[in-house]
This record gives sequence, C-alpha cells and structure tokens, in this order.
Amino acid sequence: MKKFLALLMVAVLAVVMVACGGAKTTEPAKDANPAEATEVIKMGTNAAFPPYEFKEGEKFVGIDVEIAEAIAAKLGMKLEIVDMEFDSIITSVNQGEVDFGMAGMTVTEERLEEVDFTSSYATGVQVVIVAEGSDITSLDDLEGKKIGVQLGTTGDIYASDDFGSDNVVQYGKGADAVIALKGGDVDAVIIDNEPAKAFVEENGGLKILETEYAIEDYAIAIKKGNTELLDKINAALEELTADGTIDAIISEYISAE
Ligand code: GLN
Repeated sequence: MKKFLALLMVAVLAVVMVACGGAKTTEPAKDANPAEATEVIKMGTNAAFPPYEFKEGEKFVGIDVEIAEAIAAKLGMKLEIVDMEFDSIITSVNQGEVDFGMAGMTVTEERLEEVDFTSSYATGVQVVIVAEGSDITSLDDLEGKKIGVQLGTTGDIYASDDFGSDNVVQYGKGADAVIALKGGDVDAVIIDNEPAKAFVEENGGLKILETEYAIEDYAIAIKKGNTELLDKINAALEELTADGTIDAIISEYISAE
C-alpha cells in the first residue's frame, strides 16, 4: 500500500511537472540542468511593467524574466523572483535581500553611485501618454500641466526636474498613473515606451506623443563591489547576445516596427 501511494505520488508529481513544463519561464536552457541547480539566485523586480516583467496568473513572465532565467541557467543556478515596489529594488540589492535587480532599470549617474550595472541589454525610451484629443501635442505643452509618473523612475526624476515636482503626481504603479490619466486626475503620463504601448492598448482613448522625451539603457543592478557576480552576469549576457537568445526573447514580446 505504501509503495502504491509512493508510486501514485510520483505519478502525480510527474503530471504536475509536465503541466508546468509547458511554461516558457521554467523551460530549462539547453546547456545547463536546472534540476541539478541547487544554489538560488534572487532577482528583485517590480512585476507591473509589461512587456519586461508582469504576471500571468501567478507566473512571472516577460523579457527580463526570460533573460534572467537564461542567465541563471548559464550560472547553473535556480532563479527566484522577488516582486517589490520599483523604488525598493536598489535598497534590496544593497542589503543583499536579492542578488540583482532587473526591472527595465535605466542606468543613471545617480544610481551608479549606489549600485553597479552590467552591460546594457535593451534600450528604453521615455514617452508621453495623453488622452486622444488632448491639447498637449509637444513636450513644451507639458509646462504647468499635471504629469503622472511611477514613483522613483526616471520619468519621475526627469519630469520633476523639468516641470517642477509640484506638477508631478507619483503613483506606485505605471498602470495606476494611466488610470488617473483616464479619469482626468492628471493631464499626461511620462513612462517607458513599451509599457506605455501596453497600457494604451489596454485602455483605449489614449495616445502616445511622437516626441521622445529621453532615450535610455536598461541594465541589471548589482551590489556595488560584487565584481564576481557582475563579471559572471556580463559573461552570460555576452554569450546570450552572441548566440541570438536575447534578440529572440525581445522579439517574442516586441514586434519589430
Ligand atoms: N526605466 C525606468 C527607470 O529605470 C522605469 C523602470 C520601471 O518602472 N520598472 O526608472
């Protein structure tokens, strides 16, 4: 009886594993065996930033998630994702709660004083979302208007610098800033272009201005001085770029214009 139960459990487990195996994010890399990977590597992110990181049910998906999975596989480690406010990621990296931060995070001079960044793996553009029919048609028109941003992001920092923090309303999530725009609480939202496209598509009645506000590099944040991990991740990124993995992951989520 015991043996039967044990066998039954193995069978159930196998079914569960096969079911989960279909998920892209848990797909093992060809050149590593995650089943043997015991050491965990923790990624701090804010899974509200499509298509870089977001949730499908309970599952974390997106460009950053898949690139992180591929990096972990290269390092022979098991990826664990810790979801948090965007604004907490750098602190969390520095306190060692997570091993790295990956969240469509822009490399800036200020952040470089707090953390080290890997080589850049993607480009981001800060854009302006307005309501269809809005009288805001250029960056200059933002003067004196209420601008919604996601707290602690470059959109927040630049908008506060350029238009004054009194005119900037900070939200915990980009999506909440967009909802505020729909509700007329703010006149515009400044946010990264790819999430902007996703939010505009989801909401209707909104559009993205053609003027690009800022062009930026996304990279992975690592605790300052942890050159061992920095070098390992950079080496993995280099291989994943060379063999086309990164391009393939990006084009899976972003259609070429
Ligand atoms: N790229 C922006 C930044 O680094 C926004 C990132 C995010 O909201 N996840 O500040």
